[in-house]
Amino acid sequence: MKRLSIIVPCYNEEDAIPHYYEACVNAAAALPVETEWWFVDDGSRDATLAQLQALRAKDERVHYLTFSRNFGKEAAMFAGLEAATGDYVAVMDVDLQDPPALLAQMLEGVEHEGFDCVATRRVTRIGEPRLRSFFARKFYQLINRISNTEVIDGARDFRLMTRQMVDAILSMREVSRFSKGIFSWVGFSTKWLEYENRQRVAGETKWSFWKLVVYSLDGIIGFSTAPLAIASIMGIVFCLLAFVLILYFFIKTLLWGDPVAGFPAMICIILFLGGIQLFCIGILGQYLSKTYLETKRRPIYILKEKV
Ligand code: UDP
Ligand code: MG
Repeated sequence: MKRLSIIVPCYNEEDAIPHYYEACVNAAAALPVETEWWFVDDGSRDATLAQLQALRAKDERVHYLTFSRNFGKEAAMFAGLEAATGDYVAVMDVDLQDPPALLAQMLEGVEHEGFDCVATRRVTRIGEPRLRSFFARKFYQLINRISNTEVIDGARDFRLMTRQMVDAILSMREVSRFSKGIFSWVGFSTKWLEYENRQRVAGETKWSFWKLVVYSLDGIIGFSTAPLAIASIMGIVFCLLAFVLILYFFIKTLLWGDPVAGFPAMICIILFLGGIQLFCIGILGQYLSKTYLETKRRPIYILKEKV
């Protein structure tokens, strides 16, 4: 019998874990595979670890990893992928926003339909703040325009993969990880299942608006170098503009002389160009800082305990 490893990143999820375990164990009982769980306690400050220890005590199929501090969901998923040994590996959230009932269909996709991966996307964003949905949609439009890696709008991290694909993902050891890009970058045939957005079963979201902004910048910087070209393009545009203006003022002065004027205009132009220069240097800085952090080769997470 084939084996399925399910990776579940958890950060301050003491309320959600019991609900998740019950729902997922029931769904897994009907699967034609042996199932094991790899919970990753991402430096939680509540009773998450105690909950995991209790699950482990009553169910041998439950394993867990604990981190020395909070490293973020991306690091937690990576640690889980490294630890999992199954022939198939699934990643899902603990808050039941990823319905365990879909696992059967997902398994079917890789076992019998020849896909390497079955991924999920939500087709609605009901229950999410309007402004957040708006910016999320804009982000997907932008990144798909400037990156060669396709990032599907509404894609969840909930997916089931073959061992081969997991090994490909593990070979990408970058520290600033953007899984939606990584899953797509490694390729392999992917089947998409769609479902409606659901509310969290307990607890609250760990993603503030600001965290999402930073995460989307990680995505853009990690999977596109287009912003680096902005400086060159703007430079060319402004050179052309300057050339036209030089001609204009040259001819004007020849014809009508040069009465002293235009001081406010000068200030505006200096400020405007200064702003654009700083903006472009800022973009360079973003790429440089990522390069700097990657060259340090720090570990993606630090393990405290593996059970
Ligand atoms: N998570 C994590 N580390 C973090 C933040 C979140 O492991 O620093 C886990 C969290 O416990 C949950 C999953 O990632 O299982 C998704 O988080 P959440 O539900 O808060 O995100 P949302 O569904 O709102 O996008
Ligand atoms: Mg959630």
